[in-house]
Amino acid sequence: MPDHPLPALNTWVEVPKNSDFSIYNLPFGVFKNKKLSPRIGIAIGDKIVDLSILDQEGFFATLFLPEGIFLRDSLNDMIALGKTQTKKIRERVQTLLLEGNAELRDHSARGKVMVTRKEAEMLLPVKIGDYTDFYSSSEHATNLGKMFRDPENALLPNWKHLPVGYHGRASSIVVSGTPIHRPKGQFKSPDSAAPMFGPSQKLDFELEVAFITGKQTRLGDSVSTVDAEDFIFGFVLFNDWSARDIQAWEYVPLGPFLGKNFGSSISPWVVTLEALEPFRVAGPTQEPEVLPYLKCENTHSFDINLEVFIQPEEKKPAKISTANFSAMYWNVAQQLAHHTVNGCNINVGDMMASGTISGSAEDSFGSMIELSWNGSRMVKLGEGDERTFIEDGDTVIMKGFAEKDGVRVGFGEVSGQVLPAKPL
Ligand code: MN
Repeated sequence: MPDHPLPALNTWVEVPKNSDFSIYNLPFGVFKNKKLSPRIGIAIGDKIVDLSILDQEGFFATLFLPEGIFLRDSLNDMIALGKTQTKKIRERVQTLLLEGNAELRDHSARGKVMVTRKEAEMLLPVKIGDYTDFYSSSEHATNLGKMFRDPENALLPNWKHLPVGYHGRASSIVVSGTPIHRPKGQFKSPDSAAPMFGPSQKLDFELEVAFITGKQTRLGDSVSTVDAEDFIFGFVLFNDWSARDIQAWEYVPLGPFLGKNFGSSISPWVVTLEALEPFRVAGPTQEPEVLPYLKCENTHSFDINLEVFIQPEEKKPAKISTANFSAMYWNVAQQLAHHTVNGCNINVGDMMASGTISGSAEDSFGSMIELSWNGSRMVKLGEGDERTFIEDGDTVIMKGFAEKDGVRVGFGEVSGQVLPAKPL
């Protein structure tokens, strides 16, 4: 574990205390506003550094970037330049923002480069080619196993031998702030003979963290656990909206389908692997021993604090869960190694979500189905409100941040309001 103290970095930009977007973070995103067309920026404090203007003004001259690389409506082309280049872009911006560096601070274009974040509309940061969802929290898998199968053998026999996953739907991944209509579908209660059709009565969220791939492989090739992180560009918060009643009826034998693919929400700022470097921690010990292709140094977990809030319409958000990403049994290197071990190729901009992140405490579960134990107990929201599942008008908000020695690197948030089901 790297445990050297972090270098103290100060910036001339006014960054509010406890901002997720410190000088140490500098996540990439795609934004526009009333005057500006979609473009790539880096967040710091309450500002966005407009990389396209920096480029036009020659601040990246030594990097020989393709023309207009930041005037895009997704990060894909920039990410495809490779980690060496994207690291240099981020490091150059960090240098320009350092206290004592006058290059940008005293430049006539400073006003154009520094955009007010509040006035910007954030767009989906990547064009997502393929989306995979894992199932890597042993607490979450155990809770669901206890609820629906055998409390004595909650984990299925394969679970500790491979990172279970399924192929999700990329078309319905939306950026934070996009409302989600309650899905309609089939469900069947155990005591009724035939299924019913209607709006889901058990709409849920799943607290997840997803990584975005930054390098492609060829069909037939595999990525080892040793090389896996070279293929990871960065991370976002991920809400894998789930309709539990639709899911329970449809999932046999091929797994999740319409109970999942009606929408997933992600946070707009992509936090790079480099920014998370100081927050590496050891993950849980894996027992039994995994097969050789899944073996790795236990250094691929990250100490990221996660929080979930429900905000009923016209009320204050209430915190309902606090978890940590480092509790995940399977790490990102193992997920990617497993995903490609059969020769499945990956592309720049693929999204791989962790699976629901639950801790062992009852207030650290990452979904309503666990927090309300499948609707058998009420989750209190304060102001007299309580829930078993998500109701129309509710906004679900997830936040995430890493913090150590006074250094904070955060994700901001992913939020989404649930609207009533659309009529057929
Ligand atoms: Mn999920």
